[in-house]
Amino acid sequence: MFFIFGISNGHKELEHHQSMVCHVCGRYGRYQVFMEYMFFSLFFIPVFKWNKTYYVQTSCCGTLYTIDNELGKRIARGEGVTLQKEDLILVKSGRYDSMKKCNRCGYTTSEDFQYCPKCAQPLN
Ligand SMILES: [Zn+2]
Ligand SMILES: [Zn+2]
Repeated sequence: MFFIFGISNGHKELEHHQSMVCHVCGRYGRYQVFMEYMFFSLFFIPVFKWNKTYYVQTSCCGTLYTIDNELGKRIARGEGVTLQKEDLILVKSGRYDSMKKCNRCGYTTSEDFQYCPKCAQPLN
């Protein structure tokens, strides 16, 4: 008798349809809710899950938030939760990420320039 077991990372999209005006980029978007978790599996069957974290990502600019586990569970149960700004804990601002900064002259831009408009240094 031998066991095949493993610990893996899981990812699950949750059903949640909520339109909003993004607080970060000011555009219309949707909140997409998903859950990340660790699970222990035995013979490829998940036995238990832990470390569940619920995330909300905006469809407009990809800003990532976490939400309270209780709230996440309610969304997972399909309780028709409406997310409020106060519920969202910012993890990564999409807009900030799309800002490009020239490392030669320090010029910052949110436009999708390949080269710095001031000094022509390639931007990454
Ligand atoms: Zn946005
Ligand atoms: Zn520059």
